[in-house]
Amino acid sequence: MLEVIALGEILVEVMRKKRDVPHYVPDEYLGPYPSGAPAIFIDAVARLGASAGFIGVVGDDDFGKMLIDRLKSDGVDIRYLRVLPGYTTGTAFVMYYSSGERKFVFHLRHSAAGQLSPEDVRPEYVGAAKFVHVMGSALSVSESSREACYKAAREAKKRGVKVTFDPNLRPELLDVDTIRRICAPMLALSDIVMPSEAEAQALTGKEDPLEAGRELLRHGAEIVVIKMGEKGSMLITKEGVLREPAYDVEEVDPTGAGDVFDGAFVVGLLRGWELRRCLEFANAAGAIKVMNFGPMEGPRSMNEVLQFMKRAKKRD
Ligand code: ATP
Ligand code: MG
Repeated sequence: MLEVIALGEILVEVMRKKRDVPHYVPDEYLGPYPSGAPAIFIDAVARLGASAGFIGVVGDDDFGKMLIDRLKSDGVDIRYLRVLPGYTTGTAFVMYYSSGERKFVFHLRHSAAGQLSPEDVRPEYVGAAKFVHVMGSALSVSESSREACYKAAREAKKRGVKVTFDPNLRPELLDVDTIRRICAPMLALSDIVMPSEAEAQALTGKEDPLEAGRELLRHGAEIVVIKMGEKGSMLITKEGVLREPAYDVEEVDPTGAGDVFDGAFVVGLLRGWELRRCLEFANAAGAIKVMNFGPMEGPRSMNEVLQFMKRAKKRD
């Protein structure tokens, strides 16, 4: 029996070394780094000490090998991480502008990651967990990946397993109508929804994060957590609102902060902490992630986060 199960795309990311160098000119890249929002999430959960399992698909190649080795060495159960011959492992090339904006070239839909399907989701496996986590990005990789996520959430819900959902679909990459349409079934099935500020706005049409959060509660969630980068995070329930400032750290690479945050928040809940502490802990895990280069290079242990919280300062 595992505490947390996630499913979706797992891929390698190859990153521009320098800012402002577009993908259409030759220059240096760094990588491959292990990535994919659901994979980053589950790796963080395992490193923070909870038992974790991952459902996904990689190709029979060296990128796939690296991903398998990484999850395995961090203790993630990979019995349902399928190796699919004839497809290459999912890949993303990413570059940053000085403005903080990112630009991607993806090889996902036609990669192994895009072949995740409902048959990969065993009802008895997800049904025995305490939490099942779905990322919105996995809803847009391919139709079969989307159906796999819906199935995992339905099977979890049926058995009383908590469903957590991070919409994680950038309005700049996908039109708002599509985002709303593919997220709607997940919002109805989720106990906890964890969007970024922009995603909360896109999903609800409400500018104010508090109003957006309240609107998301009306879709069925009991807790909404809105991630706001260096402004920290906000938690909304029927009972009220909690706000937590971010930690004051130097941002080296923000990719994956939201995914690590989600993982840390779920681990806090698993340990029975009160919501304020879960939020603070998740902010700390996110802050540690942004200080490190590489999408999956967040905190290595629960103790690292707890020590960080003792000495780090929060932003005003
Ligand atoms: P992702 O790009 O991974 O999807 P996101 O938009 O879902 O990110 P963010 O709000 O960027 O999530 O980051 C999650 C959390 O990490 C924030 O709520 C905050 O606590 C922490 N964090 C992110 N950026 C910073 C920063 N520059 N300084 C301090 N903390 C940060
Ligand atoms: Mg996110």
